[in-house]
Amino acid sequence: MQAELLASEQLLKSTNERLNQQIHLFESMENLAAVGYWTSGADPATLRWSKGMYRLAGLAPGSVMHRSVGRSRIRAEDQEKFAQARRAVDGAIVEYQWEHPDGRMHWHRSRMQHGSGEGGEAIVFGVVQDVTHERAAALALQDRLGFIQNITSRVPGMVFQLRLKTDGRFQFGYVSDLVREIFRGVSPEQIMQDAAGILKLHHPDDVSEFIASIKASARELKPWRHEYRLRFEDGEVRWLLGQATPEREADGTVLWNGLITDITARKQSEERLRESEARFRALTELSSDWYWEQDAQFRFVRLDGSSQTSMRLPEDNYLGVTRWETDAQGVSQAQWAAHRAVLQAHETFHDFEMLCTDAVGCLTWVAISGTPIFDVQGQFKGYRGIGRDISERKRAEEKIERLAFYDVLTDLPNRRLLMDRLQQALVSSAREHGAGALLFIDLDNFKDLNDTQGHDVGDALLQQVAKRLLASVRETDTVARLGGDEFVVMLQGLERTQADAITQVEQVGRKIMAQLNQPYRLGSAEHHSTPSIGVTLFDNQQQTLDDLLKQADLAMYEAKSAGRNTLRFFDPTMQALVTQRTALELELRHGLARDELVLFYQPVVDQDARVVGVEALVRWQHPQRGLVAPLAFIPMAEQTGLILPLGQWVLRVACLQLVSWSAQAATERLTMAVNVSARQFRQPEFVQQVLTMLRQTGANPKRLKMELTESLLLTDTQDAIAKMSELRDVGVRFSLDDFGTGYSSLSYLKLLPLQQLKIDQSFVRDVLTDPNDAAIARTVLALGQSLGLGVVAEGVETVGQRDFLLQHGCTRFQGYLFGKPVPIAQLRLGGAD
Ligand code: C2E
Ligand code: MG
Ligand code: MG
Repeated sequence: MQAELLASEQLLKSTNERLNQQIHLFESMENLAAVGYWTSGADPATLRWSKGMYRLAGLAPGSVMHRSVGRSRIRAEDQEKFAQARRAVDGAIVEYQWEHPDGRMHWHRSRMQHGSGEGGEAIVFGVVQDVTHERAAALALQDRLGFIQNITSRVPGMVFQLRLKTDGRFQFGYVSDLVREIFRGVSPEQIMQDAAGILKLHHPDDVSEFIASIKASARELKPWRHEYRLRFEDGEVRWLLGQATPEREADGTVLWNGLITDITARKQSEERLRESEARFRALTELSSDWYWEQDAQFRFVRLDGSSQTSMRLPEDNYLGVTRWETDAQGVSQAQWAAHRAVLQAHETFHDFEMLCTDAVGCLTWVAISGTPIFDVQGQFKGYRGIGRDISERKRAEEKIERLAFYDVLTDLPNRRLLMDRLQQALVSSAREHGAGALLFIDLDNFKDLNDTQGHDVGDALLQQVAKRLLASVRETDTVARLGGDEFVVMLQGLERTQADAITQVEQVGRKIMAQLNQPYRLGSAEHHSTPSIGVTLFDNQQQTLDDLLKQADLAMYEAKSAGRNTLRFFDPTMQALVTQRTALELELRHGLARDELVLFYQPVVDQDARVVGVEALVRWQHPQRGLVAPLAFIPMAEQTGLILPLGQWVLRVACLQLVSWSAQAATERLTMAVNVSARQFRQPEFVQQVLTMLRQTGANPKRLKMELTESLLLTDTQDAIAKMSELRDVGVRFSLDDFGTGYSSLSYLKLLPLQQLKIDQSFVRDVLTDPNDAAIARTVLALGQSLGLGVVAEGVETVGQRDFLLQHGCTRFQGYLFGKPVPIAQLRLGGAD
């Protein structure tokens, strides 16, 4: 028993020793690991703490024997958590804060387990670890993450770190919180766990390109930049822009730091822009409008849509230039100025109308509207606007205008337009002192034609009459139809003197009469029609439109009652003049035939009063009226064309006279000056006629001198030079008659093959009394000298005049002082006698 006891004592001892050793080992371990443990049974008073536990808790060993004491320093908020774990026990882990006597809060983690006590009773066994450092580290990490998130949240995108591992798998190292927003609820943890999973959110069409772009970046280590789409289950599509810079790590992995931004808004606005641009193009292409833009200097910088329209504006003519530098037409200087003022004021404008030349060179009416462009700072940047082809509208307007102002049947101006033009003519005739005339034309017996043949035939006649009237007048004159068979012709810019104007109007009237008397072809039949014409002249604003029309109308009735197919002037004195003139014309015709004309000769003398030649001046020996001066019939002859046979007659007589003089020594050197009128000279056959006359009569061309007037030479100077040169070549000489009354310029004088100037008698008359006339006479003489032209003074009546002229270099004189124009029989040739 003793031995047994001893043995068992030994065993106990050794067991205790082993236990102690174990406890010791355990406690030093406990110490090293900063852990402690506790055991407790069902009874709260059976709590036992290990040494490590006391150290951990910061309490004196042996001071805790009861559960309430053991839990006394667990933070109030954690009490319940701890109690729950204590009840649950099995493997429960609870973390709580411990109010350490050092004044700080320590974090304890306790793991609880069932066990059995020394007596085999059931106990709970807890291991406690001080995890304050661990918690602090986690908190610090949390802090850092928070800090990074905080920073990255300010970046307008999702910050990430991505790693491509050597096994080919992708792994996110960091993803900022914005991932939740961009990928709609995906958490950083999720994406970090499963990098590839995110691809499920990518738009299926964009996945392969996305992967290829990342791989390319990894392969070439070049920055990654890729735009791609996400597509969510509900169909929402987002555009993302990924950007990252790759680096290769020592272990062969590739590491990107980068950013993913949501660019949906930008993409959408780009898309909207593209759409609106496309819409806009479609619009400009479909419509006849085009779009234009100008810079701040109003130079075209863009022209859209015109190529598709009928307009086809040639862009090259526009880009880089302003509107007024293009070949635009139909805009007056004032309109351009107004347009530019609007642009300078940066105002919007509407429907600025002008004519443009399109690519094929056609002029087209366009209307331009524009509005200024300002940038966000309010700085003026230029103009933009549209242009529109308005030729259709213009045509329509023209049509409407035609309806309002033109006669539909004949297309001639109607009464309204005539009155308009007459009003203008009155104003301009008052200003320019040029007379005008109204010819009221009524077709004789038109009613009969209408009644017997029907209106269609009547209309056809009226249309033909309209055409003939138009052909009878100048383009500047107006032919109007008042209605029915009444037409009015308005003439403007007539000759200055009333007599001349009357002659002129009468001529036109006769021409119209002749034209309208020609047979008409109406269908298959030939028709004859005659007009009655009433004429009135106007030359000032005092006359009213209605008065004038009434006068012409009255005159027309006069013509009707005078037997139709005739012309009457309104004013009785006018009518008398016309009648007289008409009679005169007839008489002159007869006179020419009956040889009633006579040539008078007026001597031209030199400084010693010796006759060197004569001027032939025509007279008419009228059986009743006696000797008629040329001014009474030459103008009429000019107007009626009688001047042609008259001129031929004068030339023939003068040439024959030269021939007869050539037979005697005393007279053989005399020259013969012949006056040539404009109408004569302008005939194409003039030169030929003169040459023929010279040949037929055998007169010496060198003795023949032709007197021309300035006005004659001013029109068609080239033709005049050619004719004069041709005649000069055979010896005929030319003198400029009435010099000083016209408008000759020096440069033009030099051009003409002239030999002589004749100072007009109006200057000679007052040469002693009027300093102006004296100056002109002197100038003409000086001019003649410098140009190498001889100068004749005509109309010399006094010795004083002759002396003055002689003193200033004149060597040839003509005038009553030396002899009046006389018939050949009375001509005294000085030296000859
Ligand atoms: P003209 O050629 O300038 O002729 C000069 C005119 O002055 C002539 O008038 C003449 O009689 C006139 N006269 C000459 N000396 C004097 C003078 O000392 N004092 C004044 N007061 N007058 C003088 P006439 O003969 O009445 O002829 C007038 C115009 O008729 C001519 O002006 C000429 O333009 C034109 N004329 C005359 N004969 C002919 C002709 O055969 N053919 C053409 N086409 N016109 C002619
Ligand atoms: Mg003359
Ligand atoms: Mg003269």
